[in-house]
Amino acid sequence: MTTDDRVITLLAALVSNTNRIAQSLELMTMQNAKEPNYQRPIEQYRDFDFETIGAQVKARDEHGVTALDWGGFIWTRRSPQNKFGEAIWFSRPLGKKEDGSVDYARLITFRKFTEAEPLPRKVEAIVDQAPRKKDTGPLPTTPATGANQSSGVEHLPEKKTNAPSYCRLHLADMTANAIGVFAHSVGDGGLCNGTASLPDTPDRCDLHVVAMTEQSGTGVLFHRIKDADGKTISYCDGTTVKPNGKH
Ligand SMILES: [Zn+2]
Ligand SMILES: [Zn+2]
Repeated sequence: MTTDDRVITLLAALVSNTNRIAQSLELMTMQNAKEPNYQRPIEQYRDFDFETIGAQVKARDEHGVTALDWGGFIWTRRSPQNKFGEAIWFSRPLGKKEDGSVDYARLITFRKFTEAEPLPRKVEAIVDQAPRKKDTGPLPTTPATGANQSSGVEHLPEKKTNAPSYCRLHLADMTANAIGVFAHSVGDGGLCNGTASLPDTPDRCDLHVVAMTEQSGTGVLFHRIKDADGKTISYCDGTTVKPNGKH
């Protein structure tokens, strides 16, 4: 082995170690989050693989999972009628609030996502017939979904175009990342979450594929994670999710 070879081997070992440390840190931070409140379409509840969010199934009934073990706590399935629309979530009590009601933390919520409305026929015709700018070129798609370009959206089955994993902006399939957020790549390192394309800049959260638009006192960019009622339940600085009150 030459000295160069040894240095290369050593560097490779260091890089692999660093990656492992980064992964463990990420996992630890995720597990320290008091209430991540992951959001999933309600259709995914029955067959959802809870191991993908690091939770262990503790109990189930004929409809699906009813209790989970996550972060050292047991989280129970809840789905109160007529209160928050169609939703199923897993929560645990945190204690009593000042008014005497119980405060809950949520681990994951399966809810109905609002679909964009289909365009009326007349509007559709105008949109489709409008001349396209010559300099924009073809819409970017992920390298793996070249098939979309030849098939065209009008030939795609209705089911597919309505799927939460389908980007109607770019007519491309999105894949879910480690925490189940759908996105596909666009252009040079950009990511699209199905409604917006985000360039590869420091203010993009790769975890949730959203722009971090707020800044803490120390200049750290972050974005809020809100529950179904629009209440901020945690903060994310692009790599870690922190409970409400700490960002
Ligand atoms: Zn897209
Ligand atoms: Zn984030």
